[in-house]
Amino acid sequence: MPADLIVGIDLGTTNSLIGAMDAGFPILLADAEGRRLTPSVVYFPESGEPVVGRAAEPSRTRAPERTVYSVKRLMGTRTGEVDTADLSYRTGGAAGGPARVRIGAEERSPEEISALVLKKLKADAERALGAAVSRAVVTVPAYFNDAQRQATKTAGELAGLHVERIINEPTAAALAYGLDKLGDRSKIAVYDLGGGTFDISILELNAGVFQVLSTNGNTRLGGDDIDTALAEHLARQLAAMVPEFNLNPASPALRAEARRVKIELSDATETQARIDYKNHRTLFTRLTRAEFESVVLPVVEKTRSHCLRALADAKLAPGELDAVILVGGATRMPLVRALVAEIFGREPDTSQNPDEAVALGATIQAGILSGAVRGVVLLDITPLSLGIETFGGLTNVIIPRNTTIPTKAGEMFTNAVAGQRTVRIHVVQGEREKAADNWTLGAFELDFTAGTRGSARVGVQFEIDTDGILHVLARDTKTGEEKVVEMRSAVDVSDAQVEQMIAESVDHAFEDYHARLLVETQLKSREMLPAVRHALELAGAALPIDARANIDALTAEVAAALEGEDLERLKAANAALDAGTQELATLLMEQAMDEALERRGVV
Ligand code: AMP
Repeated sequence: MPADLIVGIDLGTTNSLIGAMDAGFPILLADAEGRRLTPSVVYFPESGEPVVGRAAEPSRTRAPERTVYSVKRLMGTRTGEVDTADLSYRTGGAAGGPARVRIGAEERSPEEISALVLKKLKADAERALGAAVSRAVVTVPAYFNDAQRQATKTAGELAGLHVERIINEPTAAALAYGLDKLGDRSKIAVYDLGGGTFDISILELNAGVFQVLSTNGNTRLGGDDIDTALAEHLARQLAAMVPEFNLNPASPALRAEARRVKIELSDATETQARIDYKNHRTLFTRLTRAEFESVVLPVVEKTRSHCLRALADAKLAPGELDAVILVGGATRMPLVRALVAEIFGREPDTSQNPDEAVALGATIQAGILSGAVRGVVLLDITPLSLGIETFGGLTNVIIPRNTTIPTKAGEMFTNAVAGQRTVRIHVVQGEREKAADNWTLGAFELDFTAGTRGSARVGVQFEIDTDGILHVLARDTKTGEEKVVEMRSAVDVSDAQVEQMIAESVDHAFEDYHARLLVETQLKSREMLPAVRHALELAGAALPIDARANIDALTAEVAAALEGEDLERLKAANAALDAGTQELATLLMEQAMDEALERRGVV
């Protein structure tokens, strides 16, 4: 094996896979038992080494409190941010700190647990390849934020893998489908319905370069919900047959049977569900595909609105797509395929194994990096806007949502108060106007030379690297004093909250617009009041008494309006004070002219 060997890894919520290029082809590597799918499950026995993968699966029912699954949901999140009520194991971590998993008296980070899955994949790959593996490309959902990407990278490093590149799952899938061979400006939809999550992404291929145009989805929607709906249906059917047999739809046996029936009905049009009853008797119930589909249709239908939103965000009509591809095991269901065909007005391409497409794509990307594959470059986008907090608590966006990365953008800021010596750079992510409504990625302070209000010049630059990691640079342009902060420990937003943020920004659009106007108008008032006071002092007795009284009244009205939140009243008060001080402004201007002329000895 060449020294520049790089593996591709799909680190999934339910299953993970690893691949490598072999003689110019991407291949997925199997474990010692010949299986390519490794369950992302880790069992921590009371004593001894953790058990990883398929061997840990039975512990999910035997030792649910010590068996960790779906840890991807916790990666890069803070405590309380992700709903953990449905997990069989306990979570912990300090309030507001990084989310952790609690096993007995011990706590472990999601990164450590993912690292155990990655270590197993690495060991399996090394056995299959007969060579050491130390470099990898790892995939993440397109909506993963900076903290979640960083956590994924950390997990890789903990497993002894240098993560060369983090790439988006839909981009990887498109590569696996060979969509890099499509014509220029091709538009592709990637519909990914896995066990527990649904993602829809719209990509554009432009001169051999992939860009993610938009993403949408639901982090709590997938094949598991189909199992739940079917298990409930089967429980009802069996209860009708044997009323005294009170079957819990959540029982592992019934769920497993529902899942088996579901998978069978992807090929067969009719099957039987079997449930053990007391005294070794078994109950049978017949189920047609049509019946099954009517039971699970509400679950599958939920994906429609996300697809429509992704299309709208990409500003595309379904007819403008050149390809629709399917990822995730649940897309094997004929009902899902029919719905996708209906939404997008074209048959989806089903030529790839939907469980393996992402891992194959990661492997192709690894091949591109190591030089084994040539001619394709991948670009991704920022799922949420990134900015900093400015005067009045407003968000100043520096990199808007859906910007292609890598990217760099900057802005110049100044001091709000005279004599200020430090500026706090509060980095936020989100779509809301007020910084407090967005999520904090981090904050730091920069010292600068004190001066009059507005005299400081602080340049702030945001740079997002190819892995989607944000580096923030702040520099006092006068002294050259600067700080570069990598938003590395930035554990903040969860995947579910990304969706929520976008929905909220739409829901609160009007209110946010109003809030921004109010803050801006308040800032204007706060600037005017001291300026008018200063001008009155300068004018002294030169200003007629009634004019002064009028300005005092207008000033009092601005101050009073500032106490409340009535935007219209404040705007009117500002405008009135503006108009009412014209005479004063003219007077001061004349005074200044006279003084200047006097100084020059003209008068
Ligand atoms: P993934 O997360 O991509 O591994 O997807 C796993 C999900 O796909 C689970 O809910 C499986 O039950 C489901 N699945 C796998 N194969 C099939 C199939 N042939 N028909 C329907 N669902 C399937």
